[in-house]
Amino acid sequence: WVYRVNRRLVSADKELRAVNQALQESLSENMVLQSLMQEKAIRDALTGLYNSRYLDEMLERELARAKREGYPLSVAMLDLDHFKAVNDTYGHLAGDEVLKNLARYLQSSAREGDISCRFGGEEFVMVLPGLTVVDACRRLEQWRAAFADTVTRHGTFDIRVTMSIGLAVFPDHAASVEGLLQCADKALYRAKNAGRNRLEVGA
Ligand code: GH3
Ligand code: MG
Ligand code: MG
Repeated sequence: WVYRVNRRLVSADKELRAVNQALQESLSENMVLQSLMQEKAIRDALTGLYNSRYLDEMLERELARAKREGYPLSVAMLDLDHFKAVNDTYGHLAGDEVLKNLARYLQSSAREGDISCRFGGEEFVMVLPGLTVVDACRRLEQWRAAFADTVTRHGTFDIRVTMSIGLAVFPDHAASVEGLLQCADKALYRAKNAGRNRLEVGA
């Protein structure tokens, strides 16, 4: 009798272990799925860069850290020039290729700690922690010039597009996220008015 009970207990124990293992597996699958979903929620589908929702959240964190640790924070707003004409001339898919090309370029030239984001449409925001006005200008100027020399191939078309950039830096131009974005946007507006394919800085 004891032997029979014992055998039953052993088999119940085995079953329990199997159920437990299955649960563990589905739990870790769920965790992978969940982190994929979280990643998706903060990324732009076309370019894979961060989206603007994530930018807001992240900028608050970055600015708080820059204040705490006493280093500058550069925020650049980039906007493609006459992009509507690119779509009208070569088609929307060609325009998408240009956007992806710029995103790839921005991501490949970013350093650790830099954050590349698609702000919306054909506008991008780069956050460069630790860069002073002078350093940020040097890097953005490089990116602007390099991108102007870049050709995006779409079918038989060779497409060249330029971009205008507005830069705002904490603590030089603003001390809040809203202030920095506004300031960068104003500088971008000036870059457009001054003839495009250029960088403008500050308040
Ligand atoms: P400006 O030099 O003043 O910035 O002129 P622009 O033509 O670039 O600016 P405008 O705001 O008039 O047009 C932006 C264009 O960007 C219009 C819109 O169709 C295009 N666009 C926005 N999002 C996408 C996208 O995801 N894919 C493509 N192909 N085009 C897009
Ligand atoms: Mg534009
Ligand atoms: Mg625009």
